[in-house]
Amino acid sequence: MTVELKSNDFVALADIALRNPDLQRAVGAGTRGGYHKRAQAMYAHSAEHGEFLRQQAAEAKRRALRKLPDLLELAERNLQANGWGVAWAEDAAQANQQLVAIARRHGVETVTKSKSMLSEELGVNHALEAAGLHVIETDLGEYIIQLNKETPSHIVAPVMHKTKAEIRDIFVRELGMPPTDDAEAMVAFARKMLRQDFLSADMGVSGGNFIIAETGSLGLVMNEGNGRLCTTSPRVHVALVGIEKLVETVEDYTALTQVLPRSATGQSLTVYTNILNGPARDEEADGPEHCYVIFVDNGRSQVYATDYAEALACIRCGACQNACPVYRSTGGHAYGWVYGGPIGAVLTPLLVGLENAKPLPHASSLCGSCKQVCPVDIDLPRMLLDLRHEQAQAGAAADGWALGMKFWAIGMTSPRRYALGGRAARAGQALLGDYLPAPLGNWTDYRDFPKFAPKPFRQLWQERAAAKRRGQP
Ligand code: SF4
Repeated sequence: MTVELKSNDFVALADIALRNPDLQRAVGAGTRGGYHKRAQAMYAHSAEHGEFLRQQAAEAKRRALRKLPDLLELAERNLQANGWGVAWAEDAAQANQQLVAIARRHGVETVTKSKSMLSEELGVNHALEAAGLHVIETDLGEYIIQLNKETPSHIVAPVMHKTKAEIRDIFVRELGMPPTDDAEAMVAFARKMLRQDFLSADMGVSGGNFIIAETGSLGLVMNEGNGRLCTTSPRVHVALVGIEKLVETVEDYTALTQVLPRSATGQSLTVYTNILNGPARDEEADGPEHCYVIFVDNGRSQVYATDYAEALACIRCGACQNACPVYRSTGGHAYGWVYGGPIGAVLTPLLVGLENAKPLPHASSLCGSCKQVCPVDIDLPRMLLDLRHEQAQAGAAADGWALGMKFWAIGMTSPRRYALGGRAARAGQALLGDYLPAPLGNWTDYRDFPKFAPKPFRQLWQERAAAKRRGQP
């Protein structure tokens, strides 16, 4: 299913999510679990060790970004030397054309896919199906999503928004599974269904966590065996990789595979940590006959040329989503495109245009949790503020917001007006209680308005000074 761009509807979509108790339960449990597991894994040895791993990983990605044009050329040469075909795609249409052309060249009919957020961004399934190919998602979460004709809601756990009971109902309805609430039985059933697809697939499509430039290798980090079955069993393997996914050395790959699983799933290492070096060699008994990497730009080079280039260091661990109070409440679909949470609030406007994702830079309390947990130390709050600043400069801030800031400025630039405003606010609260009238009521619909102190600080200060003058302690 292609992800339709609906980011300008964030508020309405968030409202729907907030009124869905199943989603609230599933996303709340999933994000809280992920957040705590990450903290335990990252700081299992000591706080210093965890911070060292983060800084080491951040430096590896920063260096790769600084050298990106050179590393892309080096990677292309070394990939080709290893037998990979290398193609370049400027946008989604070109990437899909390249993919379909490869499929046609090799007489492909059935395609198995492992999890790839980039393929969601490009609408790959839709393009392959339109070309008459049979496409099967094989990551369990993505498989469920495909069966239910949905899109992923979390970078690492695509089906985080669903409860176990909802997944059971999908399997019963779509696959004819005998009803059961046993999660292991459900997984075993899905595995059995997928086995035949793995055996009959002509082409496997994967994403790419990293491309190691110095060796011309593809780094893939995953927990389910489906990834290996997609990349090694079919005759053809194609990896779709964003141009920002470069690392310079194997040591850098090692540094990043220390933090990616810790941040994503709370593991010190994923079950499958792969380095793929192209098609099967003559002396090897199995493996794909043809391997390709398609490097995809799709807006990334434009981001690279701006002050937001740091966002390209993202290794898609999902930790910022688990930490974000907004994402925890709304889940990922509310963000209206492929990437939800803080990284989505930054990347989506950068990739699809700020005018097409106006509410997203405001979908944050700026609490800073996202930066704190990010394994490559991306300053997401700074970028959210910069995007807001850009909107304000362009006169694109919401009318109510601009008016509110005008009143705020009037009040804050005069002590008398500030004191008057404080008195008015206290009187208003006495009258209205904890709920504000519309349109401010959108805020208090979901939370109590904090109580003002009975006496403002200024008054307390004056009373204290007066008491001192009177010689009282
Ligand atoms: S921005 Fe950082 S925390 Fe968020 S997904 Fe990317 S790497 Fe992970």
